[in-house]
Amino acid sequence: MADSFDVIVIGGGPGGYVAAIRSAQLGRKTAVVERDKPGGRCLNYACIPAKTVLHTAELYDQARNSAELGLVVNDASIDWDALGKRRASVSDSLSGGVKMLWDKNKVTTIEGAGSLTSDGNVKVGDEVYEAGTVVLATGSVSLPIPGVEFGDRVLDTWGAWSLPEQPKKIAVVGAGASGCEIASAYGRLGTEVLLIEMLDQILPAEDKDIVRVVERAFKKQNIATSTGTPVENVEAGDSSVKFTYGDSSAEVDYLCVAGGRAPDVEALGLSEAGVELEENGKVKVDEYGRTSNPKVYAIGDLVNAKALAHKASEEGVVAVEHASGTPTHPVDQKLVAGATFCQPQVASVGLTEAAAKEAGYDVKVGKLKLGAVGGATVYDDRDGLVKLVVDSKYGEILGAHIVGNRACDMIAELVATMALEGGYQELARIVHPHPTISEAIFEAARTVDGWATHA
Ligand SMILES: Cc1cc2nc3c(=O)[nH]c(=O)nc-3n(C[C@H](O)[C@H](O)[C@H](O)COP(=O)(O)OP(=O)(O)OC[C@H]3O[C@@H](n4cnc5c(N)ncnc54)[C@H](O)[C@@H]3O)c2cc1C
Repeated sequence: MADSFDVIVIGGGPGGYVAAIRSAQLGRKTAVVERDKPGGRCLNYACIPAKTVLHTAELYDQARNSAELGLVVNDASIDWDALGKRRASVSDSLSGGVKMLWDKNKVTTIEGAGSLTSDGNVKVGDEVYEAGTVVLATGSVSLPIPGVEFGDRVLDTWGAWSLPEQPKKIAVVGAGASGCEIASAYGRLGTEVLLIEMLDQILPAEDKDIVRVVERAFKKQNIATSTGTPVENVEAGDSSVKFTYGDSSAEVDYLCVAGGRAPDVEALGLSEAGVELEENGKVKVDEYGRTSNPKVYAIGDLVNAKALAHKASEEGVVAVEHASGTPTHPVDQKLVAGATFCQPQVASVGLTEAAAKEAGYDVKVGKLKLGAVGGATVYDDRDGLVKLVVDSKYGEILGAHIVGNRACDMIAELVATMALEGGYQELARIVHPHPTISEAIFEAARTVDGWATHA
């Protein structure tokens, strides 16, 4: 046996790296096994590179469209190499930060691929490390569409974010958060985008009123959308890819599949260690992340509920607190906000209006266009919307939905209100600073009872 630890975390993404730090904070001898880079896919291949490119797309778009604001930029252009370098350096910097935090907290880093032994210890290469508790945090991998393989012209999301050249034309299959982000970045950078969704709306999980705002915005961003149209007959050539969708066909430089992901469990030796899976292939856990082997926990994209970094991190905290006997409570999955960083951003928590009605609530709705509050005109963010879905009985906020340039920052207030069990009536009385877009939130709460000042 190489060494023994109270806790060994396999996977150093947002789930695993946070779990390891929390575990060390609790005084437990902790190691993290990572076969690639600290920070996991989120920091190195997904969330962070995506947002870095989106930020440049936003600046470029603003530079070209701000003459009315008194800003004339005559020669705005994209330096693809510089953009690629910045994308990489932002990820490297944050990944280095994670390593620094591990070191600071005396978390031992073990480089290599980890798997479980039959007695629930951890094997890396030829070494076996004894573990009191193991936290599995190996995340998820991209899935191609059936019958299609990833290659030079058919890309997964990382392939799309790391292209060595700017494509003239790209198609994105799957208009969930990732697909919409890729479409919105490339569209604003000047690439012609075809965004295709098999279901009947883009951002299928979001409220219809919110999606309408995004659809309108996408039309101005070089993005053609097609919904209810599965992509089929994909033929990848040397310099382009052809395919059909519904009754139409297209030929583009690249086809990006931003659809599904599957838990990265194959190399973990789960069945030998008595760790069971759900029918959908995710690891079966209780509300604290404990698997069917009581010594082993699983968190993040490996387990059910939304595949989001902040959800993974909190599950990591809960798992190691629970394992150490520290008082904790399960993550309230209903209060994990979704965040899509297309332009305009979309953020939501809880139920859509349709889902709340379907669940049998007597629903009231409050809606306010961002343009109603002064800040939105000042900051050129008028097209968005705040929508609250409330239960008419006591005023409980069942769902909150925001579309606007900074929606992903704004949603935290609604999460906090809901977590603290505030109703829309309380929200309507919280004084917000002026002039900010956040004023649309309490005004939206007032629209439920029809007394918003600026409606
Ligand atoms: C393009 C894209 C954009 C996204 N943007 C956002 C966003 O803006 N906000 C958000 O909240 N979520 C976003 N997500 C989702 C987010 O990336 C995931 O939910 C999050 O990364 C899950 O964290 P995790 O810790 O479970 O796993 P991961 O981040 O996948 O990390 C798992 C780590 O485990 C390592 N590993 C795997 N197997 C082994 C092994 N056997 N031994 C050792 N190490 C191993 C991997 O190398 C990896 O580093 C995005 C996803 C994609 C694809």
